Amino acid sequence: MDVFGLLGNPVGHSLSPPMHEAAYDELGLDARYVTFEPDPDDLGAAIEGARALGIAGLNVTIPFKEAALDRVEPDDLAARIGAVNTLDFSDAGPGDPPTGHNTDAAGVRRAFAHHDVRLADRHAVVVGAGGAARATAFALADAGATLHVANRTADRAEALAADVGRATPSASTAPTAGGLDDLDDRVAAADVVVNATSVGMEEDRSPIPADALHANLAVLDAVYRPLDTRLLREARERGATTVDGAWMLLYQGVEAFERWTGLDAPVDAMNAALRARL
Ligand code: NAP
Repeated sequence: MDVFGLLGNPVGHSLSPPMHEAAYDELGLDARYVTFEPDPDDLGAAIEGARALGIAGLNVTIPFKEAALDRVEPDDLAARIGAVNTLDFSDAGPGDPPTGHNTDAAGVRRAFAHHDVRLADRHAVVVGAGGAARATAFALADAGATLHVANRTADRAEALAADVGRATPSASTAPTAGGLDDLDDRVAAADVVVNATSVGMEEDRSPIPADALHANLAVLDAVYRPLDTRLLREARERGATTVDGAWMLLYQGVEAFERWTGLDAPVDAMNAALRARL
């Protein structure tokens, strides 16, 4: 039996086990997906122990995504983002670290692709500058979008935009950044917007002024609890294309599954398992 899993703390409400196990069931794979909740100081021991036990692959979530980077062989994208969420032990011999990947970025790219939203040469606004925003910003810049990062703490937006500009030499236009003051103008002029803040989770609020939303916009809300946020409702009312956060969550899992198994993921089965629990 192949064992996969999730390292995080806490992991009790994770949707990854049912999503991955739906894929194993659908394809008849002899595999299990297990959650592990190590003490934050034990990350290194947990990764080494997983390798020694023959665990095939691990997802990594809060609070380990950045710290795990130093304990893996990161691919180029994970190194540029500065965080990993997927560890692959398939080539790791005794004493070798696993390879480290960031499938959150692919989650954003594939969520938009699923909705036929083109990113190349589009004007994109990322709201937020935390972990989700970092993966999103690199995904959009790598896909050829022109990027503006807006965040409550403007300094963090500027730091993220500078990181993306430095680490995405192919980008034709350097990313811009700022606070939330001119967000309405930025969104009004944009083709693509991603909410990568936690606004909308705890209360029925949107980080983006409703009047700025328009019919030529594609809006992804990374928030997936609740699934139908105020931002998505207001965007839909104005005729925008909307993409909920479960699509991003789904496709980061799809990407991890495909990396670990080399198989095409049964996306519909994984999506159904995920949405049944949201
Ligand atoms: P994080 O690193 O803690 O970042 C939080 C971000 O939200 C920061 O930019 C913060 O701004 C901003 N923020 C928080 N409260 C705010 C407020 N009241 N007004 C304006 N901005 C506010 O969190 P994260 O890991 O990036 O997660 C962000 C969201 O994405 C969460 O809802 C999470 O569930 C979701 N997420 C979804 C997926 C998915 O697959 N769908 C994956 C990862 C994360 P400051 O810098 O000013 O504090």
